[in-house]
Amino acid sequence: MNALPAEAAAASPDRLRITEIFLSLQGEARSIGWPTVFVRLTGCPLRCQYCDTAYAFHGGEWHQIDDILEEVAGHGARHVCVTGGEPLSQKRCIGLLQRLCDAGYEVSLETSGAIDISQVDTRVSRILDIKTPGSMEVHRNLWSNLPLLTPHDQVKFVICSREDYDWAKGVVAEHGLTAVCDVLFSPSFTQIKPSDLADWIVADKLPVRFQLQLHKILWNDEPGR
Ligand code: SF4
Repeated sequence: MNALPAEAAAASPDRLRITEIFLSLQGEARSIGWPTVFVRLTGCPLRCQYCDTAYAFHGGEWHQIDDILEEVAGHGARHVCVTGGEPLSQKRCIGLLQRLCDAGYEVSLETSGAIDISQVDTRVSRILDIKTPGSMEVHRNLWSNLPLLTPHDQVKFVICSREDYDWAKGVVAEHGLTAVCDVLFSPSFTQIKPSDLADWIVADKLPVRFQLQLHKILWNDEPGR
């Protein structure tokens, strides 16, 4: 995929700033294990203390949506995940998602939960993070997103401590989230023992899905894997 020259990029209404596009296995959520093309958009207004994609905060290159679709098609996978950074921090992400759905892909969106999701194509499975106190970005949660969720979507909590777990449990109950869509609890990679989180969920008979991020187990979280 060729980056746009700066002048052409500035003039194009269909450009997005992209950090990387690559084929891998989906590492988490409902489509875990499927060969998936990841489209990683550049930029994020949050700074979660555990962030594993800080390399996507800056840089990247401008690309036309047509070119992005061409590159995605070249990988030959049925699943496409638009991620970041925070992909919705670029408004044209909405158009990209629509075009990917129109092209017939199974499309998912990984979003921080801090930006309005109301304009996202309803064919997209939205994986909405709810930031816990341990993330250091809990104040960024846009609670008005929660009533927009449907069974096609998923909610994810990255749990950093027992306090985070208790907080997340309270949020799930308060908003009745498990009646709406799948709720995923994931241990923060180096901060709690995954088996502790698993034990807490089992002890509480909590109707949430425990998950470990497959790409970290397989490839130790290398960029582009
Ligand atoms: S929202 Fe995601 S990309 Fe942004 S800082 Fe948090 S973990 Fe990193």
